[in-house]
Amino acid sequence: MMKIADNTVVTIDYELKDEQGNVLDSSDGGSFAYLHGARNIVHGLEQALTGKSAGDQVSVAVLPEDGYGTRDDAKLQAVPRSMFPAGTDIQVGMQFHAEGPQGQVLMVTVASIDGDQITVDGNHPLAGVTLKFDVNVVEIREATKEEVDHGHVHGPGQTHHH
Ligand code: ZN
Repeated sequence: MMKIADNTVVTIDYELKDEQGNVLDSSDGGSFAYLHGARNIVHGLEQALTGKSAGDQVSVAVLPEDGYGTRDDAKLQAVPRSMFPAGTDIQVGMQFHAEGPQGQVLMVTVASIDGDQITVDGNHPLAGVTLKFDVNVVEIREATKEEVDHGHVHGPGQTHHH
């Protein structure tokens, strides 16, 4: 029986909860396919799935270091309201794209608002969260050479430009 290894395409059903049991994400009864070994999914889950077979059920708690990282308060930054697009009704929890120090695109979340001073948080929304995954392994197949070259899955339900 085929086992999950690098350069296999793995189809899973999954549910992701935090430590309090709140559902954060799920494949919602559908199936989610990813390329194993290509960091398409968080490292801790990828490690837990290595060597599993179709039909296996995996429950794993992934610590922040192996998930979306630990929280870094240095990523909280106060910026003037004038930095935001004019006319935007800024609310706590809204997300914006910002440019990082090396010109990379960052997603920031509005953490608090004090008059014209807006505090944004550049941490991933799931940074610092222990991720509890319940996974059913549905299907495993060899990746095509093209998929390995691209670092992601091709096929039904996958949309991207070539
Ligand atoms: Zn591609």
